Amino acid sequence: MIIKDAEFGEVIVRKNPLSRGVKFSVSTSGRLQMSVPKYTSEFLAKRFLNSNRKVIREKLPIKDPGEQRARDYQKKLLMKRAKEYLPYRLEYYAKLYNYKYDKCRLTHANTRWGSCSSNRTISLNIGLMKVPEKLRDYVILHELAHLNHMDHSRAFWQEVGSHDKNYKIHEKKLKMFSPGV
Ligand SMILES: [Zn+2]
Repeated sequence: MIIKDAEFGEVIVRKNPLSRGVKFSVSTSGRLQMSVPKYTSEFLAKRFLNSNRKVIREKLPIKDPGEQRARDYQKKLLMKRAKEYLPYRLEYYAKLYNYKYDKCRLTHANTRWGSCSSNRTISLNIGLMKVPEKLRDYVILHELAHLNHMDHSRAFWQEVGSHDKNYKIHEKKLKMFSPGV
């Protein structure tokens, strides 16, 4: 459930069957988040919020609603661009170097640029749309090489290097960017 609050913007209310009291925290997107007992009504949740305003204001780093909206908008835009680009780029390189993957997923995790699961799903972070093309391609080639090597062994890096001879530089440059949106 989401409560719209004039001061805190959208407040995420999570019902937790195990919780007995109300707990406030900040979500990864900077929103206020409330964990409440299972049978808490919206009315009650609002009352909890009202009676805790002072504590929330003082203790939690909530983003102001305007900033939140700007971030949401940016994320949406990036997702749209990523959808129109990343799956096709992945397909292009997979065909070029003869890799078979099962699915391409787009993510917006804050910590990683991409991943490759044992069921051959390749996940790519929409934040890749913010980095230079060479680095974006490097991430795609890195994840494709994981289809043959599920580790970072010498054989793995050799395979990455056979498609991208500057992979070491690209790996280093990528550290100057953050995958978070
Ligand atoms: Zn890797």
